[in-house]
Formats: sequence, C-alpha cells, structure tokens
Amino acid sequence: MNVPFVDLRAQYEQLKGELDAAIAQVLAESAFIRGKYVEQFERAYAQSYGVRHCIGVGNGTDALYIAFRALGIGPGDEVITTALSWISTSETISQVGARPVFVDIEPDYYTLDPQQIEAKITERTRAIVPVHLYGQPAEMEPILELARRYGLAVVEDCAQAHFATYHGRYVGTFGALGTFSFYPSKNLGAYGDAGAIITDSDELALFVRRFANHGALVKYDHEFEGINSRLDGIQAAILHVKLRYIHEWNRRRAELAQRYIELLGDVEELVLPRIRPGCGHVFHVFAIRTPWRSELQEFLSARGIQTQVHYPVALPFLPPYRHLGHRAEEFPVAWRVQQELLSLPMYPELTEQQQRYVTEAIRSFFAHKRVRIARP
Ligand SMILES: *Cc1c(COP(=O)(O)O)cnc(C)c1O
Repeated sequence: MNVPFVDLRAQYEQLKGELDAAIAQVLAESAFIRGKYVEQFERAYAQSYGVRHCIGVGNGTDALYIAFRALGIGPGDEVITTALSWISTSETISQVGARPVFVDIEPDYYTLDPQQIEAKITERTRAIVPVHLYGQPAEMEPILELARRYGLAVVEDCAQAHFATYHGRYVGTFGALGTFSFYPSKNLGAYGDAGAIITDSDELALFVRRFANHGALVKYDHEFEGINSRLDGIQAAILHVKLRYIHEWNRRRAELAQRYIELLGDVEELVLPRIRPGCGHVFHVFAIRTPWRSELQEFLSARGIQTQVHYPVALPFLPPYRHLGHRAEEFPVAWRVQQELLSLPMYPELTEQQQRYVTEAIRSFFAHKRVRIARP
C-alpha cells in the first residue's frame, strides 16, 4: 500500500465538475487578475469569518509582509514571534526592516509561550505575531492582554489554521489583522499561490487594498508606492467552490486525528499531539514526537508511507538568524522538539484502511526497537 503525505488529486477528483466549471467561467470572461470572482470570494470569506474586510493577495507570505506594512512597522522596530514556524513568519518581519524577536514554544502545544513574552518586550517592540501552528490555536488570551497592556499590535498567522477556533471564536479575528495562505496543500488550498488578509478595521483594509495593488484602488490612482500582490480570478473561483467544503474537511481532519490518537495511544515511545482545552484544532499537520525520528521515517518510507518534518530547524537556529547569536539554551523546547517531530499523512480523503496501515507500521517499528535499541 502507498500512503502519500497529502493527496491533492483525491480532492480534485471529488469536486472536478464544480471546479472545472468555475475555472472555465473565469477563462470565458478573461477575469484573470482581481475582478468579479475575486470580489465574490473576498465577500464570502469575510462573511464566513464575520469580519468587515477580506483582501485577497498573492500568497500567505505577502499577506504577512503587507500586514506589517499596514501597521507601519519598519526599521528600528522589533516584532515578537514564535521560535517554531515556517520561515515566512520571521522573514517578512525582516523584509519590512524590523527585527524578529523569537520566543520559545509551549511544550504541550508547540505554539508561542505567552509566559515568556513579557521578558522580551522593549521600547522598540511594536507587535506580537502568534502562529496557529499545525491548526492549533495559540494561547490568545494572555497574548492579547500583554498587547493591550504594552500598546502592541497583534497579527495572527493563520496560514495553517483556517476556521480553527479559540473558545468558540475563529482565529484571525482576535488581532488587528489575520493572514492566510491558500498554498495548495493548506486546509483551504488554491491551485497555485494565493493568500488573504482579514480585518475589521476600515483604515487598515484600505491601506492593504492600495498597497497590494501599486498604491492604487483603481488604475493610475497611485496614492503611494506599493507592491504587486493580487489574487487571481482563477484561484479565487477555485477557493470559492472549496470554501463550501472547508468545515466538512476540517471535521474530517479532526476525526482522523482522533483515530490516530486512539490507535497510537499506548505506544509509550511516542508523544502524541494534545488539543488545547476549549479550542477547535483543524489539524493541518498531525505531528508526533520520538527520539527515533529518522529511523522511524526511513522505516515508514520503506513501507510506502510518506512523512515530513515541520520543522527540522527552528527559526532562531536557521542560517539567516545566525547574526542574532541565538543559543540552544534560550529556546530549550524548540531545540528539543525540532529533533523529534514527525508529521504523519493527514488529509480529509485519507481512508481508515490507509490510516490503520500507517499506525500498524509505527507499532511494529517500536515493537522491534524495544528489544534492540536503547534510547539515544
Ligand atoms: C504556508 C505558510 C505561510 C506562507 O504561505 P505562502 O502562501 O506559502 O506564502 C506562512 N506562515 C505559515 C505558518 C505557513 O505555514
């Protein structure tokens, strides 16, 4: 049996009729950049979040960059974020000329540890950027409280957490702006690069709309210099179709996660994901932990099971941040888990049979290991 890490074709085949028709319509009207289909998707996305504005942009990385620009963050500023994320989160802080200030993660949930934020706040700090990593909401309450107390903005990186909930409310609606990626393998994925920003602020929305389109709301009306980061009509039409299924897909992911937890619960050598109480985790990634990560990964690969690592090197230890001189002892949790995390196949179309094949393989790996090898 083969179990891919994700299977985008399975989803396309289910929705082929609807998706092909939506794409054909955009082609027939040549509505390629922005236009009617982008506006329709933006309205639907904003409405489903209960926010005033959604602005489609080129991708999730641009969404972060544009959000920081909208807040006027620039050279001399500091932005606090998590030690464990995809590089877009910190890369875009540097792109606006600010300095990323990393904070270690919570050992149980792998998101920004709110207990450690205050010690990193200086007079240069402008914003806090929690990442709802793997689809698990970050601990927003204390983060928002600190932001209020110190007058900092909050930008939520929701690239992995479409419609995840924190105490009944969607993530992305807590901060000044919420940023999204619709990279094809994300929970809500386009068929190319795409992203969006949501906000309740008319002022921030207006800036974002202008900035992402050369500083202009309509052609030649350049109020200031901006960039070119727009959502395509074809991507918007695809996303609009898929938006109708996202809750069903997220439910399915949560169900699959529950079954993984049941089937692996008694394997002592594994640390399984935990769901933060009161939260709706949308399991973009199902990450287990084991000190035998690379051996397990090879063992599964030899049996046709694809896995990935999110992420093999935590942000503070990546070469672009070497100049900050970070040491392992400053981020002990991120340092440890980067060596142990392993993401198992996770997508709504994963079958129970495939899932049992994966868990049986993992169980047999540890059954053999137990007799042969000591903990590294
Ligand atoms: C995917 C991702 C992004 C970037 O999205 P792109 O659309 O690929 O630019 C940003 N942050 C996180 C946490 C992500 O997972």
